Amino acid sequence: MSVLVLGIDIGGTNTRFGVVDREGCLHAKGSLRTGDHETLEGFVKAVADGCRSCLAQIGGGKATAVGIGAPNANYYRGTVEHAPNLQWKGVLPLAQLVSEDVGLPTWLTNDANAAALGEQLYGGGRGMKNLVVVTLGTGVGSGYIVAGNLLYGETGFAGELGHVIVEPGGRVCGCGRRGCLEKYASATGLVLTVREKLAAADARGASGADGSPTSLRDLPEATLDAIAIHRAALAGDPLALEAYRDTAEVLGLALANTVAITSPAAVFLSGGLARSGDLLLAPTRSAMERNLHPAFRGVELRISALLEKDGAVLGAAALAFSERHGDDA
Ligand SMILES: [Zn+2]
Repeated sequence: MSVLVLGIDIGGTNTRFGVVDREGCLHAKGSLRTGDHETLEGFVKAVADGCRSCLAQIGGGKATAVGIGAPNANYYRGTVEHAPNLQWKGVLPLAQLVSEDVGLPTWLTNDANAAALGEQLYGGGRGMKNLVVVTLGTGVGSGYIVAGNLLYGETGFAGELGHVIVEPGGRVCGCGRRGCLEKYASATGLVLTVREKLAAADARGASGADGSPTSLRDLPEATLDAIAIHRAALAGDPLALEAYRDTAEVLGLALANTVAITSPAAVFLSGGLARSGDLLLAPTRSAMERNLHPAFRGVELRISALLEKDGAVLGAAALAFSERHGDDA
C-alpha cells in the first residue's frame, strides 16, 4: 500500500478526519461534534480514537504523520490561539497533544492554509508554484503559496485577506476594527448586505432594491441566511441579485489588490459561499479583472476543485505530506 497520512480538520461545529494517500484518495474517514467535548484532553482522545479506528477499517494500515487544520492555528508553535469558535479558551497545544496520543509526528496550520496546500497537491492547483485559496464561509480565510511554499510571515499568521480593510469606518469586525473584507464577502457579510438593503428600502418606503418586490422581505429574521439569499437570487429576486453584485464588487477589488502582492497563477474560491457558483464567480471575476494591474493579466479565478469533496481533510493531509515527505510528496 502507498504511504498514508492522517488528516484532521477541526471546526467550531464538526471535526472530520481521515486516512489519505499521496494521490488524495480518502481510504477511511470519520467525524465527531467538536462541541460534545468539554475538555481539550477528552476531545484529543476522541479524535485519536477515531483516527485509530479509521486505520483499523483499512486493515491496520500504518500512517506516517498527522496534519491538522484548525481555526486560529499557529504553525510555528503547533498551537490554536484564542479561537472564538471553539469552547476551549487560551493557547491550546494541539499538535503536541495529538502527537503524544497518536504516536506520530504532527503538524498544525490554519484551516485556510491547509486548504491552499490541499488545492496544490490534490485540487485545481496541481503543478502551480504560486496560488491563493480564499475561503468564504462564516468569515473569510486565505492561504498563500508563494514559490512553492506556504506563506507564514514573522508571526505565523500571514495571509489574513479577511482582515484587510475594504471600507474604512465600515461594519464592526470580530477583530475589533471596522470595515474588514470578511464582514462583506462572507456568508455573514452577504446577509448583512441584504439587511442593509432592506432597511434602506424601508427608509424610502419601497419594498425592494429598486422599488420592485423582494421575497426576502417575507422571510422571518432567523431564516434570512446565505442559503435563502442564494435561492432567491436563483429565482431572479432583484434585491438578492444586487446583494451578490455588491459582494462580488468588494471581493473582486480585494482579489485584484492581493494578486498584485504575490502574483499567483490562480486564485481559488472555497467555503460555503463559493457554492453560489457563477452567481458569485462571474461578477467577482469581472470586478477583479477591471481592477487588475496590466502586469497580472491572465491570472485565473476558479472555484476550488475540492469544494464538493472532503477538501478540509485533504488539505490537512497535504500538510502532513509536505512536512513529512517534502518534495517527494
Ligand atoms: Zn477584522
